[in-house]
Amino acid sequence: MTRIDWRLEVEKRKDALLAMTQEFLQINSVYDETTITKKQPFGKGIDQALAYLLDKAESYAFSVKNIDGYAGKVELGEGEESVGILCHIDVVPAGEGWTSPPFSAESRDGRIYARGAIDNKGPTIAAFFALCLVKELELPLEKRVQLILGTDEERDWRCVEHYFKHEEMPTVGFAPDADFPIIHAEKGIADVLFEWQAEKGAASVLELSSFTAGERLNMVPDRASAEILGERAELDRLERLFRKHLLEQQHNGEAVFAENGRLILIYEGVAAHGSTPESGSNAGVELAAFLAPFSFQEQAVSYLQMITSLFHNDRRGEALGIAMEDQVSGPLTVNSSLFTWNEKEAGFGLNIRYPVTVDGQICLQRLEQKMSEYGAKMVVKDHMTPSYVDAQHPLVRTLQAVYQRQMGEEPTLLSTGGGTYARTLATGVAFGPLFPGRKDVAHQKDEYIEIEDLLKATALYAEAIYELAGGCQKE
Ligand SMILES: [Zn+2]
Repeated sequence: MTRIDWRLEVEKRKDALLAMTQEFLQINSVYDETTITKKQPFGKGIDQALAYLLDKAESYAFSVKNIDGYAGKVELGEGEESVGILCHIDVVPAGEGWTSPPFSAESRDGRIYARGAIDNKGPTIAAFFALCLVKELELPLEKRVQLILGTDEERDWRCVEHYFKHEEMPTVGFAPDADFPIIHAEKGIADVLFEWQAEKGAASVLELSSFTAGERLNMVPDRASAEILGERAELDRLERLFRKHLLEQQHNGEAVFAENGRLILIYEGVAAHGSTPESGSNAGVELAAFLAPFSFQEQAVSYLQMITSLFHNDRRGEALGIAMEDQVSGPLTVNSSLFTWNEKEAGFGLNIRYPVTVDGQICLQRLEQKMSEYGAKMVVKDHMTPSYVDAQHPLVRTLQAVYQRQMGEEPTLLSTGGGTYARTLATGVAFGPLFPGRKDVAHQKDEYIEIEDLLKATALYAEAIYELAGGCQKE
């Protein structure tokens, strides 16, 4: 048997692929609370998108299943084992400022522009089309192939939770919802909160009446504010020093007196994703470090000093005693946020991303022990263990071979501190759709997919399906 030219096979069907992609992108599949029913748990648009694909699949004689409106399954072939391809058909809200309407799926400059074009409806069609291609070519398969259609990836992942409660876990799988070549390691992610009861201490020259920074654990706080009471001369001095500090640090901020005579200091940092705290500037930590040397009440001083000693210029957990790293996924990172101090309560939260070969429980135990020195109560709000498929695993080796063959490029293995959809698979990796060097436009206005990339991805997915499902091409 001669080797199949996957790119050529896709090229022959290009018009149909583009037409289906555009049609699918024209369905507005944003979560819609107002149209939720028992049968459509995420609203009408998502349900329509799910129905669209399942109907298409049925018309091509695949076996299909709608899992209570939470997810869909399109299956091909027979066999004991299965290969899963995990996609999602929900999209984030369109937002403002688009050049062409976000659900028109306009084709221009070799791209298709639409909300969901790259994340994740375009790649979903690529995967579905790849499955159709394998079926059409009547290639022999030894395993079942399942296209799993999630509907709640952009919010709470309730789709996959429901799906895997009722349906089997594929033996191996991939999710086309991140980057090419292959992401095989995703760090563990723990969200942890620390709380204290604040007590009113003895009188002091300055009194910190409130300190706050950050709204989400997975973002570096870009704004911190402190409200301070005291004699006017002391407050004036503090205000002057703060302005000087901002100038020296070349940071934005504000110092204003409220009507009641309180001094309000606002420090502006730089926001960044919680998985890359070093690319931001943590406003909470910076403001705490500035305030810590001043003569506030004892309790406030301990709080500010603690924040400074634990987090100032330390985003790897050194001072917390949890710094660690491995070769596969790099160092543990810590993002601190949700800083709160007032007369009643004090606290902060951490978003910790630890290496894939580390036992998360040990890390959390060490953390709890360290923070007990400060009298803090620890609450683990969320914990996702790492996702990791060994570089020698047949899943990884097969996808690497496919990528190298078709792209002629080194199929480098990647690791990430972010959480991709692939981690919900027991043995799964992320495989595309964003090619190296391409701009990531997911969740942005004028989101698009390069038509060339859509074709390439379809060919890669088709061969991947064929190779993983046990077809074997002879040279
Ligand atoms: Zn996505």
